[in-house]
Amino acid sequence: MVKLAEWQGKVVFRKYGVPLPRGEVARSPAEAESLVRSGKVPLPCVVKAQVLAGGRGKGGAVRFASSPEEVREAASAILGLDFKGEKVRELLLEEKLAIGRELYVAMTLDRAQRLPILITSAQGGVEIESVPDAEIDRQPVDPFPGLTGYEKRRAAKTLGLAGGPARTLEKVLDSLWKAFQQEDAELVEINPLAVVGDGLVALDSKVIIEDDAAFRHPEYAEVRDDRTELEEIAREKEIAFVQLDGNIGVIANGAGLTMATLDVLTEFGGRPGVFLDLGGTDDPKKVTEAFLLMCRAKPTAVFLNIFGGITRCDTVAKGLVEAMHQVPPAERFPLVARIRGNNEAEGIEILRAAGVTAVPDLKSSAQAAVEAARGRP
Ligand code: GDP
Ligand code: MN
Repeated sequence: MVKLAEWQGKVVFRKYGVPLPRGEVARSPAEAESLVRSGKVPLPCVVKAQVLAGGRGKGGAVRFASSPEEVREAASAILGLDFKGEKVRELLLEEKLAIGRELYVAMTLDRAQRLPILITSAQGGVEIESVPDAEIDRQPVDPFPGLTGYEKRRAAKTLGLAGGPARTLEKVLDSLWKAFQQEDAELVEINPLAVVGDGLVALDSKVIIEDDAAFRHPEYAEVRDDRTELEEIAREKEIAFVQLDGNIGVIANGAGLTMATLDVLTEFGGRPGVFLDLGGTDDPKKVTEAFLLMCRAKPTAVFLNIFGGITRCDTVAKGLVEAMHQVPPAERFPLVARIRGNNEAEGIEILRAAGVTAVPDLKSSAQAAVEAARGRP
């Protein structure tokens, strides 16, 4: 998932004409101070941590300042904060507006209805999860005509807007819809959309770009910094590789089997620490490469679960054994394999000859992997 930081989401909003406060990004207290001294950000201002987690307002990661000294102070306090596990490295400084009501507006995908939906609530400014369902309006949107006049008027009514502000809302919604479609977003959220005099201003942004559309948006390639170093390397090699917080490594093929393997391990008391999906490949070179990457994640034990359909079990086994020989003895770990399907007997033979525990049955092999991990630090 490509989750944009608030300021990056606001760059998107600006492109589509969503009204925003004046603001600038700072990466040090000195830079923050000079932004207000030079007048690039007017005082009083808001100093906001640029982290992906929400709830910054309540968590002390959004502060107000009315002098350059206060800005520097707020910036020092927020930069370097560990906010819900994320280190704050960037700040957004914005003019502080005198705001009236805070509204909630978002466009997202409803997977059950297989349609985009427009979500609105007059109870903005707090996380939408904490708003009672009766206070939230959801309208499915037919993607071909796009947002209709009716849907926009119903949104205005839900939000308690009439006259000029209602017309402004319609423009904001048109911009939001365009951003949602043209950026291939899975979520564009404004919370709060603040009433400022007769106008509306997006005080916050949350934008998530659909991963499968990433190839259409090279401009977001740099944004994906929630990946670990190894995940980044894997992406370059086009290996599906995800790090979790357990200690057992999982190598499987196909997303379904990979997820099921994680579940089975968990069921037997194991904690998956990293998983790797070989997909449809049995190219021994690719398997070797993937395995070596897995080693770098330092799993306590590795569970290999392969179903050989198009993939041939023996070539996967060959690639694996090849890779194992490249790992220094001190860094080796127990490997348990469950390998079934095309050329299964040959695959098991190759693995056993290399000292791998190879069991065709899923339950006992998963238990063996959990056992192998348990005995070790
Ligand atoms: P979040 O808590 O992480 O979602 O951060 P937000 O960007 O939504 O900010 C939290 C709250 O700060 C908002 O709901 C507003 O109440 C307040 N806030 C942010 N900017 C301004 C501003 O310009 N003026 C005023 N008065 N309040 C603001
Ligand atoms: Mn918010």
